[in-house]
Amino acid sequence: MITLDTPLDALLDSSHGKPKLLVVDDQPINIQVMHQVFGGDYQVFMATSGTQALAICKSNPPDLVLLDIVMPGMDGFEVCSQLKADDTTCNIPVIFVTAHTDAAQETHGLGLGAVDFIAKPVNPAVVRARVKTQLTLKFQSDLLRKLVFLDGLSGVYNRRYFDQQLGVECARSTRSGVPVSAIMIDVDHFKLYNDRYGHQAGDDCLRQIAVALKACLKRPADLVARYGGEEFACILPDTTFDDAVCLGNELERRVRALAIPHEASSVAAVITVSVGLATRTVDSAEEPAALIRLADTQLYEAKQSGRGRVCGAQLGK
Ligand code: GH3
Ligand code: MG
Ligand code: MG
Repeated sequence: MITLDTPLDALLDSSHGKPKLLVVDDQPINIQVMHQVFGGDYQVFMATSGTQALAICKSNPPDLVLLDIVMPGMDGFEVCSQLKADDTTCNIPVIFVTAHTDAAQETHGLGLGAVDFIAKPVNPAVVRARVKTQLTLKFQSDLLRKLVFLDGLSGVYNRRYFDQQLGVECARSTRSGVPVSAIMIDVDHFKLYNDRYGHQAGDDCLRQIAVALKACLKRPADLVARYGGEEFACILPDTTFDDAVCLGNELERRVRALAIPHEASSVAAVITVSVGLATRTVDSAEEPAALIRLADTQLYEAKQSGRGRVCGAQLGK
């Protein structure tokens, strides 16, 4: 699990491998120089025009761009402006590398959102040090952006992210005419579990459940979040009611299969969950909150009718 205490080096190694640098220069000789400076520690990608640079940033985003200013066609300033104006590329740091350094140019470049300016011909030690500084800052801010949306205990997404994505997916569903399903999962007799085994064991149990739930989701767009204390929730974009029911049943089975002893439970000798699900059909014009309300009602049904089971309903025709 990633936490604020995770050493930065470990984080860089695990999630990034070798950092990716994009060197943009219309003179291949300059790219070659940068390749010699960075080739060992970084994956170096290259572009000889602004248009090519923008295409690479979109298709295979680098961790940092070293950008020449004077290039035929689109110049470096324009490339930087376009990168910063696009949500998918605006967090990639840009360092200008240029032979013409005067204060006005430098001010202009920094004003466009570049993080640094380096003079050509480059001094290898200086350019290496500056790139390292900017990458550290970049990885730290990436991490913070991630942590804002992660649950500290279980490592899955948190409620904030869930609410945001539910809005996004419901809007997408309305636009593209596909259903979206939501699943609420609540641990059965969890108060009794804490009373019997202790709060630490309770926390550990929640972690194991989170891993099991996550393992059930197959599609990249599916997500599981910790919705509250011992409640989890899933969003399943483009998923019909029948498919959501199948997945709901699998979630229930997987948690049971963890075989975490729960002697105080009236449902089974092991930890179980109750599952409520709802599907927003194409005809529904209701708010995202209505989908959650319906899934919650179904969860209540599952609890009332004996726990350790799945109940579901559709919203709309
Ligand atoms: P039900 O089957 O009706 O859902 O019963 P329940 O006991 O699970 O439900 P209730 O809402 O009465 O109790 C929820 C319990 O979950 C109480 C609370 O102490 C525990 N809980 C909530 N968050 C955490 C947590 O982060 N860690 C631990 N260990 N326990 C938690
Ligand atoms: Mg609860
Ligand atoms: Mg409960």
